[in-house]
Amino acid sequence: MGRILIRNGTVVSPSGSWAADVLVDGEIVVGLFEPSAVEALGITADRTIDAAARYVIPGGVDVHTHMQLPMGPTFSSDTFETGTIAAAWGGVTTIVDFASQQVGERVMDGLEARHGEAAGNCAIDYAFHQTIGGVDDESLLAIRQLVEREGVSSIKLFMAYPGAYYSDDGQILRAMQVAGELGVMTMMHAENGIAIDVLRAQAIAKGDTDPIFHALTRPPELEGEATHRAVQLAKVAGDAPLYIVHLSAADALEEVARARHRGQNVFAETCPQYLWLSLEEHLAQPGFEGAKWVCSTPLRSSHDHHQRDLWTGLRNDDLAVVSTDHCPFCMKDQKELGLGDFTAIPNGIGGVEHRMELMFQGVVNGEITLERWVETCCTTPARLFGMHPQKGEILPGADADIVIWDPNATTTIGINDKHHMNMDHSAFEGFVVDGRVETVMSRGKILIENDQFVGTVGHGQFLKRGLSAELR
Ligand SMILES: [Zn+2]
Repeated sequence: MGRILIRNGTVVSPSGSWAADVLVDGEIVVGLFEPSAVEALGITADRTIDAAARYVIPGGVDVHTHMQLPMGPTFSSDTFETGTIAAAWGGVTTIVDFASQQVGERVMDGLEARHGEAAGNCAIDYAFHQTIGGVDDESLLAIRQLVEREGVSSIKLFMAYPGAYYSDDGQILRAMQVAGELGVMTMMHAENGIAIDVLRAQAIAKGDTDPIFHALTRPPELEGEATHRAVQLAKVAGDAPLYIVHLSAADALEEVARARHRGQNVFAETCPQYLWLSLEEHLAQPGFEGAKWVCSTPLRSSHDHHQRDLWTGLRNDDLAVVSTDHCPFCMKDQKELGLGDFTAIPNGIGGVEHRMELMFQGVVNGEITLERWVETCCTTPARLFGMHPQKGEILPGADADIVIWDPNATTTIGINDKHHMNMDHSAFEGFVVDGRVETVMSRGKILIENDQFVGTVGHGQFLKRGLSAELR
């Protein structure tokens, strides 16, 4: 590996962007230099990369992915191998995926099984959140072990999916009390699953089986209501840290904003699909086409102001993070399971490859600043989930996870264009965005260069995470 010097680029961090040369030694960033200092100080390297007219940004950190996730009779279609290679193509060098536990299972068994699936199969570094689908005395006891011994400092609970991962309000309160005491982040899928199941059954009974009814039976009010309840339960649990996942509705954003404005430890993420895609343009496509965009929370109507509000939330930090909820399924044999019954369509959109590109378009369009792009896609996710300063920012001592970004090139997203995820369609088919991932480095090792993946499966290591750096 040796020493690599990245010259003539513009380094971007949440605090600003400036001309600097970056020196990498082995796996670590060892220095940032004012460009003329490199000669003055006699700094040499084994390899020099010219980044003139390029941005030099930290590797992307996607804290919400689902590789090879069991769903009904099938699995999400990216394995840890294909999914982390696609992530690298998208300028992502760290993912946080999920280990899971359900009623009757032991938490540590779920974690061990997930380690078995990922170890040796990842091209980039990875960590786990722990889903707790069966909150009881035993699983609550396991939370301490997760954070103190396993490097898993966040749990995920569901207010949706009764009969599967669902927790009732009492279980949520108990879990938040334990997690809050330990400083563990509780991630919440905030939708009122009990009410949603009533609407779904009524729709099917009426013969309303097309993909669009997936969204019409998960209205924004029920995301807002659940978010409100989660926020209040977290407050009662002693201001337990709470992170709302895949926030899609203005109704939910209002609840998060209110909690944050009164000083609660509440955070939220949104995903590119909620910023760029809509119920009418995508989910409502004729026939079964809309199945491509069946995900939960669902795409929202463009007749309301969800997208506008989400962009505003990103600007004012009511939304702290952009993740993908990457959970791809092919149309053939997978989404098709729900032909004639939208409730049987596997839920999920593949996006791990395109988050950095789609959010850079937000910079170009004037929705967010360049610095805010890096902050929401790299730095804050690392800080919020206990991985900073090792990940998320180009700093001396940090892992040399670096992306060289060409802002003057364009990227065409589509199944026959840029597409490396293991799926037979793209949720963002035909999108032409400004900017392009040029070079990607993970711990000093080049993964993407000259339009080729030159990394190694197995290079990616499990990251033990600490507590969140964002808690008050
Ligand atoms: Zn998810």
